[in-house]
Amino acid sequence: MRRRRAVVTGGAGFLGSHLCERLLQEGYEVVCLDDFCTGTSANVEHLLEDSRFRLVRADVTDYIHVSGHVDAVLHLASPASPIDYLQLPLQTLKVGSIGTLHSLGLAKDKRARFLLASTSESYGDPLVHPQPETYWGNVNPVGPRGVYDEAKRFAEATTMAYSSACGVDTTIARIFNTFGPRMRPRDGRAIPTFIGQALRGEPLTVAGDGSQTRSVCYVDDLIEGLVRLLRSDTAGPVNIGNCGEMSVLQLARLIIDLTGSSSDISFVERPQDDPTVRRPDITLARTILGWEPVVDVREGLRRTIEWFRSESVGVEPVFVP
Ligand code: NAD
Repeated sequence: MRRRRAVVTGGAGFLGSHLCERLLQEGYEVVCLDDFCTGTSANVEHLLEDSRFRLVRADVTDYIHVSGHVDAVLHLASPASPIDYLQLPLQTLKVGSIGTLHSLGLAKDKRARFLLASTSESYGDPLVHPQPETYWGNVNPVGPRGVYDEAKRFAEATTMAYSSACGVDTTIARIFNTFGPRMRPRDGRAIPTFIGQALRGEPLTVAGDGSQTRSVCYVDDLIEGLVRLLRSDTAGPVNIGNCGEMSVLQLARLIIDLTGSSSDISFVERPQDDPTVRRPDITLARTILGWEPVVDVREGLRRTIEWFRSESVGVEPVFVP
């Protein structure tokens, strides 16, 4: 029998590497395309021994060529943390636009199912809370986060157009904040930043007064949601995230507690357009995918802290010249 084959763009990143792993477990052959601008081959090194896994250095904003059959294209390539997309604004816009067009073109040529990794940032700083998929969002297109938010909104529109105009079998996941092993300690996202600071005994830098909320999902739950979405015949968009909302200050205190650190908390300036609240309405995912998160946030944080410790990730002191 012909083996199913998946192409994962951005497969050497945090989420992409977990997804490649899971697709191999599901029996897929996996072609991972990555230009390593924010990811690293170290994230998928352990998969290279598997003859069903291929890692290809490729910038998906250039031409994408994959020979042979392809059953699924999962488009995750994009800088994803605020630090990354502020440092790579044009690459972010290009991968969300040209990279998405190329990935959809591949799905069209191969008659493959296409999954777009979109984001809760499509809702911007939301005026509706929690956010259902029917909410159109509140995005500042000319603010510092606009490059990411608008690139993803363009990617969603392009995905819908390939479905309606070209008959490509597409789906869109709106992913909410996810955490777990293989996050980069200095990618600027709250959880790896706080864990690194707590392990080094430095103050945890909470933005503003820390009352802004986030809903954080453990990576295994997120990947389960993506795989169910891929298997379904739903076009989406579908929110995939955890509804357990907590303030950033609560999150910082929880990490101090779980690491047993003696760190204090220091309050720093809040970035422009930082969302005030963020919580997915996952009614749709529950109903059509039978999916909801099962890993408790404390347990997910314990596993992530354990990984940071075992890899000595983020433990080394920051070098200040
Ligand atoms: P990541 O930075 O760890 O992974 C992104 C990967 O894409 C990296 O390996 C990077 O090298 C690769 N990449 C970027 N531009 C590329 C290009 N032009 N060609 C080929 N590869 C390219 O980020 P992540 O957290 O794993 O996010 C993965 C996807 O999920 C992104 O599309 C992101 O927008 C989306 N997402 C993530 C989260 C989250 O909480 N992690 C939340 C919402 C959405």
